[in-house]
Amino acid sequence: MTHPTTLQTRLSHSDYTAPDGFDAFPVPIHHASTVVFKDVAAMRSRSWQHKNSYTYGLHGTPTSFTLEARLAEIEDAHQCLLAPSGLAAIALINLGLLKSGDDVLLPDNVYGPNRDMAQWLGQDHGISVRFYDPLIGADIDALIQSNTRLLWTEAPGSITMEVPDIPALCAAAHARGVLVAIDNTWSAGLAFRAFEHGVDIIMQALTKYQSGGSDVLMGAVLTRDAALAQQLGLAHMRLGMGVGMDDVYLVLRSLPSMPLRFKAHDVGARAVASWLKSRPEIATVLHPALEDCPGHAHWQRDFTGAGGLFSVIFDDRFTEAQTDRFVDSLQLFRIGFSWGGSNSLCVPYRMSGMRKNWTHTGQLVRFNIGLEDPRDLIADIAYALDAIGN
Ligand SMILES: *Cc1c(COP(=O)(O)O)cnc(C)c1O
Repeated sequence: MTHPTTLQTRLSHSDYTAPDGFDAFPVPIHHASTVVFKDVAAMRSRSWQHKNSYTYGLHGTPTSFTLEARLAEIEDAHQCLLAPSGLAAIALINLGLLKSGDDVLLPDNVYGPNRDMAQWLGQDHGISVRFYDPLIGADIDALIQSNTRLLWTEAPGSITMEVPDIPALCAAAHARGVLVAIDNTWSAGLAFRAFEHGVDIIMQALTKYQSGGSDVLMGAVLTRDAALAQQLGLAHMRLGMGVGMDDVYLVLRSLPSMPLRFKAHDVGARAVASWLKSRPEIATVLHPALEDCPGHAHWQRDFTGAGGLFSVIFDDRFTEAQTDRFVDSLQLFRIGFSWGGSNSLCVPYRMSGMRKNWTHTGQLVRFNIGLEDPRDLIADIAYALDAIGN
């Protein structure tokens, strides 16, 4: 064997390997673009599709395989694919399952960028895209066509928080051979068991509760069916959906505390939502655990908890300028998108044009309850409500 004699070469070919026997709780961070093979036979025999070996950084390292396995355990899935963001995970499902000529149905309260992507697929990629009333339930049957391939669901829907009847939607879809995908971000897979309620494909924005730190963007797609997983796996490979291992590590680090954080968000959000319900400035509290929320009975039947996210509708007498002043007057709640971190957030939304058949006339404001003491959050809101008067 030739032995490199120059320092320049030895800097890339050192003989040192660290001793065996190291053990600790954190999952090691394995960075790689290139994965090296022992010999040509090893290179030829491995397949990126089998998660029992390594081929190239895009297809994973022990660090990302570990996160996939842990997420699969939470959702009771058989396969998990990681994507660079929640929205990328949505794209993976759409591009992996839909082809030109297919039809896709989305709830009218679907996450805004999912709606926008569907409209793009409709305009430029020959896919038929239709939106349905999120509370349609079994009547979805009347909208299913022979070319309908995919039914998107979200529970509850973004911003307006209607809780759909997932078992009824799944039963109707499956009777006609249509796949059902769910954006299960709100429940983190903790408060709603999507596979047990009939869903075929779960999507999660790990950016929210799984990360918990307001510092990572990542998404996941989870399945139980092997053929479906293979089809999505091919799209994942073709689209080059790699994730950074430092980001994967951050999510792994946060995961053990997720149920405890989720519970604290839930307790805080219910305390703040119930208090808001008692206020004369607020007409409606759209929190799935409260009766005002459309689809509350589905939440009661199918969910075991709630997250930190809910919306309110102000009384009609308040103008947009006043509710904007309310949001600006909050001190602990900051203005910003996303949620699931420890800091509380508040965002006003303009509903006109966002939803078909939106009948409320008051201003809508969405709250994300962080991990602060709910008594301080309530005091902050009380101060901001006083600032806009009655
Ligand atoms: C945030 C979010 C996403 C997208 O996640 P990103 O990582 O921000 O792309 C998707 N669905 C829902 C319901 C979300 O709240």
